[in-house]
Amino acid sequence: MQKYYITTTAPYVNSDPHIGFALEIIQADALARYHELKGEDVFFNTGTDEHGKKIYEKAVEDGKNPKEYVDIYAAKFRDLKNLLGLSDKLNFSRTTDDKHILAAQEMWRRVESAGYIRKGTYSAKYCVGCELEKQDSELIEGKCPLHPNKEIELINEENYFFCFSKLQDKLLEHYDRYQDFVIPAHRQKEIRNFVESGLTDFSISRLKEKMPWGVPVPGDESQVMYVWFDALTYYISALGWPSEEQLFENYWGKMDEPRAIQVAGKDNLRQQTSMWQAMLMAAGLPPSRQVVIHGFITSNGQKISKSLGNKVDPVEYVNKYGVDALRYYLLAKIDPFEDSDFTREKFEEVYRADLQNGLGNLVSRVAAMASGMSNQEGGESLSISKNVEESLNNYRFDEALRDIWMRIKQADQVISEKRVWELEDIPKQQILSELIEVIVQLAVDLRPFLPMTADKILSTYTAPTMQKMSPLFPRLA
Ligand SMILES: [Zn+2]
Repeated sequence: MQKYYITTTAPYVNSDPHIGFALEIIQADALARYHELKGEDVFFNTGTDEHGKKIYEKAVEDGKNPKEYVDIYAAKFRDLKNLLGLSDKLNFSRTTDDKHILAAQEMWRRVESAGYIRKGTYSAKYCVGCELEKQDSELIEGKCPLHPNKEIELINEENYFFCFSKLQDKLLEHYDRYQDFVIPAHRQKEIRNFVESGLTDFSISRLKEKMPWGVPVPGDESQVMYVWFDALTYYISALGWPSEEQLFENYWGKMDEPRAIQVAGKDNLRQQTSMWQAMLMAAGLPPSRQVVIHGFITSNGQKISKSLGNKVDPVEYVNKYGVDALRYYLLAKIDPFEDSDFTREKFEEVYRADLQNGLGNLVSRVAAMASGMSNQEGGESLSISKNVEESLNNYRFDEALRDIWMRIKQADQVISEKRVWELEDIPKQQILSELIEVIVQLAVDLRPFLPMTADKILSTYTAPTMQKMSPLFPRLA
C-alpha cells in the first residue's frame, strides 16, 4: 500500500489558534482525505511547540507552572480536530511529550557526532517588550522604537551553534534534484537564492539558568535547546523516530526516496526548507520530499493583528456559519500560495451565492423533484474526477472547487432550460436520473473539501429511495 505522510507546522502555544493556522490545517486535511480516498495509507500529523522563554514568563505571570500553562493551550489546538471537521486519522504531538524530548536529544547527538555542532559566543540585542532580537538598524538612539521606555538587553553568552554554513552544497544539490521541492516555484527560487548567497551558523542553545523551560542539551547540564533542534524534530518524533525505525521509514521515506510532505506559511520558508533540511542532512536522515508554502490572510488588505483589532476567529465562524462553510471559503476563495483577503462581507456573499443558492439549492431542489424515485447505484464505487485530481496534485484547492462549481451551474442550467418541474413520467425521470448521477459525482468530488456536506448528499442520493432534504446551508439572518 502506498504510504503518504503529511504534516502541518507546530504552532507556538502562546495564543489561541488563529485563522492562518486554520487555513494550513484545512489544506493539509483536504490532502490527507484525498490520499486516503485514493486508497493510500495516510499519516496526518499536527501538534504544538511548547518550550521557550516567552511561555515560561507568561506562565510565571499567570501564577502557573509552565506545564499547566501549556496544557491549557495544547487542549485548544487539540480541539481543532472536532471544530474544523478534520480527519479521524489526525495525529497530535506535543514537544513536551517524553518521546519527543528523547528524539530531540538523539537528533542533537547525531548531528554533534557528525561534526555539525560547535561552541561559540552568542551576542545579541534583545527587546523584552517585543521578545525579539534587534539589529542596530532597528534601534533609535539605542532603544526599540516600539518600547522606548524599556532598556535593550544585551545577551552575551557561550552556547552551541549549528554549522549551517557547511551544508550549503548539499542543500543546493537537493533543490536541483527536486525542482518541485518547494511549492510554489517562486518560493523555491527564493530559498535557493538565500542559500546560494551564503549561510551563517546559528545558535541552538541557551543558558539554562536564564531559560529553564527547555529540553536539556545532552552532555551539558548548563544548557537547554533553543527552538530549532526541539521544535523542528517534531516532524519525525511524531513518527516514533528514533525507536520505531520501520514506521519512520514507511512514512518519512528513504535517502533516495523521500516521502514527507510539509505544509507551512511563508514566514516559515527558511526554517522548513533550509534549516530543517540541513539538520536532517547533518544527522544522516532523508530530507523532506516537498514543502508547500501558503500566504497570509489579510483583512481589507491589512495584516491581521491584535493591535488593529481585525482578528478573524475561526471558532466564531464555525459556530455561526458551520464548519463546511469555513472550509469552503478557505479552500475556494483563499489563494493556496499567495496573500488573500478575508472579510465578513465577502464571506457572507460567498456563503449566499455559492453554498446556499448554489450547491444547497441544487441538491435540495433535485431531491424534492425526484422524491419517491428509486436509486440505482451507490456512490462508494465512484472515484474523484480527473480534473479535481489534477488540481489537487498541484495543490490548487481553488481550481478544484471552481471545476466543481462550474458543474453545479451547468446542472442548474439544465433544470431551467428543460423546465424539469413541468415534465412528467419518463422524460422527467430520465432527466432527474441524469441529474442524480451528476450530483452523486459532485458529492464524491467534494469529500476532501467539505466532508460533512458530501456525506449528507450521498446518504440521500444513494439511498434506495430518493427523499426530500432539509437545506444544507440555512439562510443567514
Ligand atoms: Zn520592542
